[in-house]
Amino acid sequence: MLDNIYIEDLKIFARHGYFDFEKENGQFFYVSAKLYLDFQKAGRTDNLDLTVDYSKACEYITKFMTDNIYDTIEAVSEKLAESLLNKYPSVMEVEVRISKPEAPVDATFKNISVTSRRKRHTAYIALGSNEGDSLKIIEDALKDIDQDSSCKLIKQSTIMRSTPYGGVEQNIFYNGAIVLETYLEPYNLLEFLQTIEAKYKRKRDIHWGPRTLDLDIIFYDNEIIDDEKLTVPHPDMAKRDFVLEPLRELAGYYRHPILRKTVNELADAVGEKHIIRK
Ligand code: ATP
Ligand code: CA
Ligand code: CA
Repeated sequence: MLDNIYIEDLKIFARHGYFDFEKENGQFFYVSAKLYLDFQKAGRTDNLDLTVDYSKACEYITKFMTDNIYDTIEAVSEKLAESLLNKYPSVMEVEVRISKPEAPVDATFKNISVTSRRKRHTAYIALGSNEGDSLKIIEDALKDIDQDSSCKLIKQSTIMRSTPYGGVEQNIFYNGAIVLETYLEPYNLLEFLQTIEAKYKRKRDIHWGPRTLDLDIIFYDNEIIDDEKLTVPHPDMAKRDFVLEPLRELAGYYRHPILRKTVNELADAVGEKHIIRK
């Protein structure tokens, strides 16, 4: 259970809004931010450096609200939540509420607000490529992922070469794995990774066929997801040394939430080897 610091209805004059007159004239917004963190140690030692200085956080929020202009309060809320998580590494989760009591709507109301809650998640992603300049594609794609405001590349495995899996005659593969910190929920993460694949001209004509870039979600926190769009942990990972060998460099002791075995144990047990060792 985390503690929280709650800034409630900070009043800020800003220019967000869909209409030109909203951007020109501006109006008052009220911003609430609940920052979830563990401040037990700060509390026990009465040390401001171990927590979030709320006066500085108020300044930061005010600057964010006036330096940027968005059409929707949904965007304001989303971007501010991400920005607070990026700014304060000790904050594990945030809830941001943006209120717009003077919103230009032809009705009588007390307030209109949106709330977003964003949390740090850990995702392990397997990388594969056997078409085009694979090493360069992987390097560039990782930069793209890291540069997105909702993802941070924490660590990357070595890139290994492997023979193709699944019986299709094709070039050898380059494989690797990364660990990401992300604020994206699983389906949004999948969609984001697919836009990165598409940027590098990923095509899907042959099942398990040649590809410029493949980004598979292997683990997402300890979650188990199983539907037609997304299966996590990745269903075939236990059979794939080209997933498990890179992954063990990042998370050897991570325990598969269904198989109840660690990555190291799974890697040691793979029968069919694809990694080329020389
Ligand atoms: P495999 O998933 O067996 O490694 P593949 O990577 O070649 O095969 P793709 O064509 O890249 O398969 O993906 C097909 C679909 O798999 C995607 O559109 C996606 O909806 C779905 N999918 C299900 N689970 C996952 C996951 N954990 N990571 C990525 N995609 C997934
Ligand atoms: Ca794959
Ligand atoms: Ca895939």
